[in-house]
Amino acid sequence: MSKHFNQDWTPRQDSTENRQHGKRRGHAPLVMAMGILLAAVLGIAIANALTASGDAPSADGGADSTNSASASASDGQTAPNDPRAAELAVDPDAQTDWSFKNNGEKTVYLTFDDGPSKNTQRVLDILNQYGAKATFFVVGHDPDYYDMIKKAYDDGNTIGLHSYTHDYAKVYSSEDAYFDDLDQIAQVVQGQIGYVPYLVRFPGGSSNTISGKYCSGIMDKLAADVQARGYQYYDWNASSGDGAVCTAEQVVENSCAYDDYPNIILLCHDAATKDTTVEALPRIIEHYQALGYEFKAIDRSTMVPHHKVAN
Ligand SMILES: [Zn+2]
Repeated sequence: MSKHFNQDWTPRQDSTENRQHGKRRGHAPLVMAMGILLAAVLGIAIANALTASGDAPSADGGADSTNSASASASDGQTAPNDPRAAELAVDPDAQTDWSFKNNGEKTVYLTFDDGPSKNTQRVLDILNQYGAKATFFVVGHDPDYYDMIKKAYDDGNTIGLHSYTHDYAKVYSSEDAYFDDLDQIAQVVQGQIGYVPYLVRFPGGSSNTISGKYCSGIMDKLAADVQARGYQYYDWNASSGDGAVCTAEQVVENSCAYDDYPNIILLCHDAATKDTTVEALPRIIEHYQALGYEFKAIDRSTMVPHHKVAN
């Protein structure tokens, strides 16, 4: 089974994260000062207004401006008119079990990791042209393209969580570090589609061994932990090979080698460097559509492939 390579990934845990942390730290005293001022002003106003009625003003200083991901993950801030939110929001009481059982129909589930990027709109255009749906496991790499998450979702595709930093050394340094990173990308996605989806794809897949460099045995623990929290992780049973540097022809050839699979969960990437994947995409779709396959987005009825955990 092919692995998920990311040799050419250039992590930009640069500035985005530092900026955010800096922002939070930098604004905290100001927000606190404003809160105290506001509370004082309101207190006086309410006290004055309520003197006549005799009610005591609330001692509660007002809204808590902190917004932790774990809180937001269970807040269920879903769009009221979005039936997919009810199905796809993370929910510890509605666990989707892993299974290799196919749905009995010829189905391709394209999965795009490491976007959104400059290539995501091109991917969406091709999907729409062919009446195909896909699943995007997103990263926090480029805030300029975060709005593509909503665009992809509104087109009928599914959004999953991949990683905020995609930095193996950071993400796999400890269980806490993994979930801190997951919560960060969860917040990005929630900001775009209104809820935190239950779908997760581990950087490198669950069978990655690189995590062993940073924390021995962590994948075993994370595989159990994400499910205990109501997430489900999706590996893949087919690979486009585009994790490595590939020509479009190679991507087509790799991707079209699964004609005997009823359900194909195909690993692809829509990172900024993956132009050949975009070039290859029409031919991949045409190949499988000619064989009677439908291209669908992952939902809770989709098979859930798990690799063998190796760390
Ligand atoms: Zn990735």
